[in-house]
Amino acid sequence: MGAGGVSTGSKSVLTVNLNRCIQHAVGKGILFQFYLEEIVDLVHKVQLAYNENLKYMQQKGMLPLFDAGYINLSRQYLTIGVNGMVEAAEFLGIEINDNPRYVEFVRQILGLIERYNKKYRTKDVMFNCEMIPAENVGVKHAKWDKRAGYIVKRNCYNSYFYIVEDNSLNIIDKFRLHGRKYIEHLTGGSALHLNLEEHLSKEQYKQLLCVATQEGCNYFTFNIPNTVCNDCGHIDKRNLKECPSCKGRNLDYLTRIIGYMKRVSNFSQPRQEEAERRYYATVSQL
Ligand SMILES: [Zn+2]
Repeated sequence: MGAGGVSTGSKSVLTVNLNRCIQHAVGKGILFQFYLEEIVDLVHKVQLAYNENLKYMQQKGMLPLFDAGYINLSRQYLTIGVNGMVEAAEFLGIEINDNPRYVEFVRQILGLIERYNKKYRTKDVMFNCEMIPAENVGVKHAKWDKRAGYIVKRNCYNSYFYIVEDNSLNIIDKFRLHGRKYIEHLTGGSALHLNLEEHLSKEQYKQLLCVATQEGCNYFTFNIPNTVCNDCGHIDKRNLKECPSCKGRNLDYLTRIIGYMKRVSNFSQPRQEEAERRYYATVSQL
């Protein structure tokens, strides 16, 4: 995945559940930095093994797309994904807003991963680090950790540097939390998704682009929920409380997840999400 459509790809993403690593370390009385370093080292070794296996398969003629030149094995990243950053910081009693302790925490973790990305880099193998979108994995991590007895405060781990449900943060705070101080070591990127109630004017959008530049946020999207009427099927690009067509109030909302419009009522059901994605893909091909 690359910011702004840069044509770099990832051949394999292996994700570290930071919340679990840090709670585990603290529970065992180990400095979390030491424990995390062991895990990060291990993740790199697993990625290298995966890469060796790919090369082996290519030698055996099992990767026709690679042989045809569509994918260049040595130009594809091995990606270290991170999830549960916010939850790990919360566990350590760090406030999730722009403050020195939080900056230090984020830089420590992402800096460690970057150090290992460089350490394991060769002329044939490249690593990057990405805060993965985690629509599904965020839910799984929360579920698994809860079952294993760890402290879990929400059903889906955040995919951002801020808490999605925290209404005290405004748009500018969010740009700052995805700005240069935080994303510096995030070589594989992480998109800031700004969920807005309504479309802004041209001037307002322009102003936000200036904020992004100032804060050093290089990858973001705007998201405005569309209204869909469950009774008559009317879809409106605004966020409404009443259907403009039949005046009904049996409404649902559509929002964009990656490239797809999704009903908000389906949000917490990962399996339905998947089915829905396939459905939209088919429609767009007609
Ligand atoms: Zn209607």
